Amino acid sequence: MSKTQDERGRAARRGQPFLDEPEAKPFWASLREHRLTAQRCSSCKKIFNFPPQARCPHCLASDYEWAILSGKGKVYSCVTYHRPWHPAYQDKIPYNVSLIDLDEGGRIVSNVVDCPPDEVRIAMAVEVVYEDLPEYTLPKFRPVKSA
Ligand SMILES: [Zn+2]
Repeated sequence: MSKTQDERGRAARRGQPFLDEPEAKPFWASLREHRLTAQRCSSCKKIFNFPPQARCPHCLASDYEWAILSGKGKVYSCVTYHRPWHPAYQDKIPYNVSLIDLDEGGRIVSNVVDCPPDEVRIAMAVEVVYEDLPEYTLPKFRPVKSA
């Protein structure tokens, strides 16, 4: 196994997501249309955590449907990177990486944007924004402004 592949033999290209994973293709297709979706278990009705996967992480059932989420959630945990996790992120430091607990359930790794990295706080209310890149769209989050 070379350093350009992960343990499943997938190419580790420049920090890009695995767009061709069978379970994840609907997720990426919906993001292209600016909809955040998640798998909802047909058995226990809970939302899967991310990334998309073949079996429910709660009850191990294999049947699910895709649910459109509100895109709202709260920061569960966050860190600020002052050294890049991947060379491709060199020009982004310092940047924030956060775990977001979505209102409908499910936890996703993302970045909180439109906010200095060190001002992101646990339990901060956030909402999804979409970063359109040439090949795919990333879900990022921004603080919800109180009215
Ligand atoms: Zn389940």
